[in-house]
Amino acid sequence: MTTNLPGASGLVLEENLVFEQGSPDRVGYSLPKSDVPDIDPKAALGAENVREQIAFFPELAENEVMRHFVRLSQWNYGVDSGFYPLGSCTMKYNPKINEDMSRLAGFLNSHPAWPAEMAQGNLELMHRLEAMLAEIAGMDATTLQPAAGAHGELTGLMLIRAYHIGQGRKRSKILVPDSAHGTNPASSALCGFDVVEVKSGPNGHLVPEAVAEAMTEDVAALMITNPNTLGIFEKHVGEIAAIVHAKGGLMYNDGANMNALVGVARPGDMGFDVIQYNLHKTFSTPHGGGGPGAGPVAVKKILEPFLPVPRIVRKGDEYSLDWNRPQTIGKVKGHMANFGVLVRAYTYIREIGQEHMRRIAELAVLNANYIRAMLKDRYKLAYCTPSMHEVVFTDKNQKDRGVTTMDIAKRLLDLGFHAPTVYFPLIVHAAMMIEPTESESKQSCDQFIAAMAQIDEETKTDAEAFHGYPRRTFRRRLDDVQAARKPVLRWRPE
Ligand SMILES: *Cc1c(COP(=O)(O)O)cnc(C)c1O
Repeated sequence: MTTNLPGASGLVLEENLVFEQGSPDRVGYSLPKSDVPDIDPKAALGAENVREQIAFFPELAENEVMRHFVRLSQWNYGVDSGFYPLGSCTMKYNPKINEDMSRLAGFLNSHPAWPAEMAQGNLELMHRLEAMLAEIAGMDATTLQPAAGAHGELTGLMLIRAYHIGQGRKRSKILVPDSAHGTNPASSALCGFDVVEVKSGPNGHLVPEAVAEAMTEDVAALMITNPNTLGIFEKHVGEIAAIVHAKGGLMYNDGANMNALVGVARPGDMGFDVIQYNLHKTFSTPHGGGGPGAGPVAVKKILEPFLPVPRIVRKGDEYSLDWNRPQTIGKVKGHMANFGVLVRAYTYIREIGQEHMRRIAELAVLNANYIRAMLKDRYKLAYCTPSMHEVVFTDKNQKDRGVTTMDIAKRLLDLGFHAPTVYFPLIVHAAMMIEPTESESKQSCDQFIAAMAQIDEETKTDAEAFHGYPRRTFRRRLDDVQAARKPVLRWRPE
């Protein structure tokens, strides 16, 4: 069977900056006459706040605006255009029913400042989602407020700090394994903790001895990702939790990799006390251009009193907001949360249903292991330990031929694939971290495998060519050093 790769140089059009287009007084809209009585903007706002003209403001007709953004979108690559194996990021397909539900008029037109009586449906959805997320993680209560995974980490750590203070003790350290995502030490530091790194064992696991050695009465919590960023299940977690708890510390689970566990295993049952979710990873909400996200935090009972306010309370069929929580850490976000994202995640969970939830994890793990099995004779595995939902290779075999991880990533673009995560996790030299997610069919996994196999063959016959890739993309290989040293961040007319 021949496998056609998606990479092709099709009709992709050049496009100037929007500021270089248009002509004065060209317009792309017509507005009805204002029904606001005449007021003088300068008198109302202060003359210094009112401009006659906006310098360099592009003025374009509707079709020019349309073409501009459609062309730019065609330069882009997303989960709607193809296979997106960016490890750790869980770039699964975002089902369009999520979008439909988030646009139901009752949700779309609600205002965050409405009193609870007017927002009963929204509160019911959030209350239900909190319960589902607590159940999936094996926890007792959830806050939906945090706006991203990293924000959830910070919130979880604030809860841990409040808990220790509530116990009348001050603890200053967070233990973080060397395989951790950069946000883990960053969130800990932002929360005022000192970060103590714990070395992973030779098989990529965290080993109880290393934790026991680092665990003192000064440690507030151990923060681990499970499966970790090597795609390896932390099989000693029960024993490790016992060590941490015995010294009065808490167990924090970075839940970014929950896609490998949902419906199969629950962090709360393993001994974790707090977890953040990344709804844009596990529950199929858009990653957006860093746009509105949600990183809910689920906790065990001992941390519940500290959760952000307001809490959504249900009495019979009525929902209300409880602000009277004396031990709360306060608010971590304006209003309630990024509500539209919550509607999408709720839809996804309902669409899958409790009985099928484990299929997400099973298929994600199956896909990653299929790719692993098909490529392991060509690309060197970072660890022989079994993989969960993602697999980490290195460029060791190709490096001998003069081709690096970066070269391979660039060549993949020519063949029509987004590159995997590269050079992360940091403890693996020249890592390529591949996460197909459960969204991909066997055919699309096979296409990717064929592309990786072709690349490996090319490194044997034409290694020289790799320094010039990509050749078929709209922009050629960029000069990373130049881009970092002399970034062009602002456009100004000549
Ligand atoms: C993505 C990720 C994060 C950060 O999540 P954001 O939602 O991007 O802030 C933290 N830890 C791990 C392991 C991740 O993969």
